[in-house]
Amino acid sequence: MPRLVMKFGGTSVANLDRIRRVAKRVGVEVAKGYEVIVVVSAMSGKTNELVGWVNETSPLFDAREYDAVVSSGENVTAGLLALILQENGVDARSWQGWQVPVKTSSAHSTARILDIPTANFDAKFAEGMKVAVVAGFQGVSAEGRITTLGRGGSDTTAVAFAAAHQAERCDIYTDVDGVYTTDPRITSKARKLDRIAFEEMLELASLGAKVLQTRSVELAMRYKVRLRVLSSFEDMGDDAGTLVCAEEDIMESNVVAGVAFVRDEAKMTLISVADRPGVSAAIFGPLAEAGVNVDMIVQNIAEDGRTDMTFSLPVDQVARAEKAVREAMAREEINFHDLIADTDVSKVSVVGIGMRSHAGVAARMFGALSAEGINIKVITTSEIKISVLIDRKYMELAVQALHDVFGLEKA
Ligand code: ASP
Ligand code: MG
Repeated sequence: MPRLVMKFGGTSVANLDRIRRVAKRVGVEVAKGYEVIVVVSAMSGKTNELVGWVNETSPLFDAREYDAVVSSGENVTAGLLALILQENGVDARSWQGWQVPVKTSSAHSTARILDIPTANFDAKFAEGMKVAVVAGFQGVSAEGRITTLGRGGSDTTAVAFAAAHQAERCDIYTDVDGVYTTDPRITSKARKLDRIAFEEMLELASLGAKVLQTRSVELAMRYKVRLRVLSSFEDMGDDAGTLVCAEEDIMESNVVAGVAFVRDEAKMTLISVADRPGVSAAIFGPLAEAGVNVDMIVQNIAEDGRTDMTFSLPVDQVARAEKAVREAMAREEINFHDLIADTDVSKVSVVGIGMRSHAGVAARMFGALSAEGINIKVITTSEIKISVLIDRKYMELAVQALHDVFGLEKA
């Protein structure tokens, strides 16, 4: 029988009434003849509460115990959903990560899934089990300790089960009805996409669109898992939501699929750095060691053997970054005349696989921004994405202008 993975996020299982609604939705798929694997998150707010308790108890916590505590929210929802399914006459049981087992690395709080054996479920389905309810976000290390996969990790649990079981599809039920061309809170013209390519979703997810955990999209792309994002609050037909799929499964699409943004970015410039081999390594090595997530990097043309180096980073890492480069200067590994930090910038990006075959996307983007009088501070491009750094006060305006110029309100 075909297998289907259904994943329900925190708001979809926030209380017993909602879990009952989830059980009904699962029942519909069982009635269609699927063997269903349901992956659940903790009730919304629960994981934050658990993280808070750990921090309050022990600021320098043992990461293994952190995982033991924060993974527990999912155990509750998995058990409750299995109980309600049983009440409804559906043969169901819950599974914690270690029982499957979901084998992961030992990187506590950011573990990676290594393997999900399927024999266990195969046997139970063969005996008549209809639904396996899996606690998302958790696994077990080779040392036998409970691990978690990083915040938002139950998306990744769901995709990994879909890949391991070669499920027909992986449906991600959430509180929005799909993936939008941009955040509808920024422009009412934002439109739900029927389909989006893995590559585009990956860029959008890592550029700030928070619908799916980035790693879940990476995994779906690697194993060609058809992912559908849809709302658990609306009654839906078979083609509701947004299908995240291979490029070949999209007939015709806009050149630009969506506009993404990261509101709180910062820009740092080292003025007059010696331009010699090894200087970039000498700057970005210490930044990486300090845990600074550098994103865009621009090096000016050198004059008189000196150059300016500009890079972007999250706003809350500016102090750490400044300390790292000043210490590198004190160790005489680098030398610069001045350091300027601009903490009032945002990153706005347009993403689309159509860019590969269409020239002029950058020109249209820059034209639209200039028509609004928005100054571009830094630009980076990749094959399917163009990102700019601009003053934060223009972020909404920029997103709206780009959404308009690329005609994203129309399919
Ligand atoms: N409950 C976990 C979190 O809040 C995992 C998830 O919901 O995906 O991050
Ligand atoms: Mg989530």
